[in-house]
Amino acid sequence: MRVSKVETYVIGGSWRNWVIVRILTDDGLEGVGEATLEGKADSVRAAVGELARYITGKDPFQIERHFQEMYRRAFYAGGEVLNSAISGVETAMWDLKGKALGVPVYEMLGGRTRDRVKLYANGWYRQGMEPVEFAAAARDTIALGFKGLKFNPWGGRQGIDFYRIENSIFNAGVESVAAIREAVGPDVDLFIDCNGIFQTSGNAVRAANAVEEFNIGFFEEPVPHENLDAMAYVRSKINIPVATGERLFTPFAFTQLLERGGADIVQPDMSHCGGMLSALKISAIADSHYAAFTPHNPNGEISHAAAVQMAACVPNFFALEHFPPEPWRFDVCSTSMPVNDGWLEIPSEPGLGVKFNPEEAKKHPYEPVDLYNLHRPEMALKIPKFIDRIR
Ligand SMILES: [Mg+2]
Repeated sequence: MRVSKVETYVIGGSWRNWVIVRILTDDGLEGVGEATLEGKADSVRAAVGELARYITGKDPFQIERHFQEMYRRAFYAGGEVLNSAISGVETAMWDLKGKALGVPVYEMLGGRTRDRVKLYANGWYRQGMEPVEFAAAARDTIALGFKGLKFNPWGGRQGIDFYRIENSIFNAGVESVAAIREAVGPDVDLFIDCNGIFQTSGNAVRAANAVEEFNIGFFEEPVPHENLDAMAYVRSKINIPVATGERLFTPFAFTQLLERGGADIVQPDMSHCGGMLSALKISAIADSHYAAFTPHNPNGEISHAAAVQMAACVPNFFALEHFPPEPWRFDVCSTSMPVNDGWLEIPSEPGLGVKFNPEEAKKHPYEPVDLYNLHRPEMALKIPKFIDRIR
């Protein structure tokens, strides 16, 4: 079996473009992977094209060998663009191999260590940022069955300055956390994602200390991702577990993070981290540092399906981030992963368990985004509402 063609699709998702990689073989098989990179779809598309010239004509079963060629032998393979491209191609090879052998990817990565996946909700906060609005939306989301909620109580507020957080904004965030905890009671998990908005370590520590009393399960990206020593410093000063890693790639970066004591929970993104075998290696490195693993999971259905495969087999898996899907998502990618009462059923279909429909994908064209600013106040409004996962 040889790779005969590599196709790239850029699909206009509701709040980010998805970059889908499809690998075809000379005996009629196909595999799909996702290389979505927020605001950089054109760059990743070009990078996938360069990898496509290498992978065409090769045996797609030799996944580690091709990863080494694409990453290590290529001289330049660092950063978010090139690692996202590699992630898409690598994941497509796993999907293809699973389909060829008739097994889910997790069966090739050690088999199931659990029978279903605990979810926590994100993207439920599209209602407005007053404490009373947060509380009402939190109640509505818990009513859908979710046992955990993630949110950024400070990001997205008008007038926010990342170096000088105004007391009015700081206090409104703390009051929102208090209102949410009061609304959902003591048993629901609350996770705070700072998205790196505190660009002084001291303010990150101050913010964590201000919300500590509300029993926060983790405090994510309290400072940006570039300085791992600063992340470790913040972790040493606060009494909430630190989660980070959506903007870190490959086992190398996660080793450096964990050696410094920078995280309790690692969050590699399946579209960026180097692929499924990289994610498995990252999970093992995390486990050896007594850290848990939970993939960052805001992208399209193929990246989501890859994260579910990891959740099925990784022993130190924590819980999976779950965003509301676009109403048309399952026309583009049909899957079999029902969600019941905040838990997701692990699929038993071969590969990733995704059936990609290129004709449906073409109905949702690429929308150019030159700069992707997650903290624009209108950003939350682009996220769809929670719906039943349509099959
Ligand atoms: Mg995050």
